Amino acid sequence: MPCIFCRIIAGDAPAQILYRDDQVTVFQDSHPIAPVHILVVPNEHIASLNDCDLKHEALLGHMTCVARRLAAQHGIEESGYRLVINTGPHAGQSVFHLHLHLLGGRHLPFRFE
Ligand code: AMP
Repeated sequence: MPCIFCRIIAGDAPAQILYRDDQVTVFQDSHPIAPVHILVVPNEHIASLNDCDLKHEALLGHMTCVARRLAAQHGIEESGYRLVINTGPHAGQSVFHLHLHLLGGRHLPFRFE
């Protein structure tokens, strides 16, 4: 069974898709912790940042630039936002398909809990 994000990218599981191109798919987090909580997800299945190396530099840069554009589109460019890539157990990574969280729309304390 493919992972849940692979299924969303393939159109086999529901999500509120905001943007897609040949490298990434962007959709609303199903359990938002901020007024803006968007996931920028590579179309290729990469389990975590630990599986990235130099050949992923362009993809990681693209993910960041797409997130920045989404921040502008959601009107949080000036108020501020946070980009997060949880990696591994101590960071609480729960979906093992690389993704960038775009969080904003409220004050974000340093800790998420
Ligand atoms: P992480 O803890 O960094 O692995 O984040 C995984 C994120 O994926 C969490 O914020 C979940 O709410 C979100 N998530 C899990 N399943 C789905 C789904 N089917 N659609 C949208 N977001 C999801």
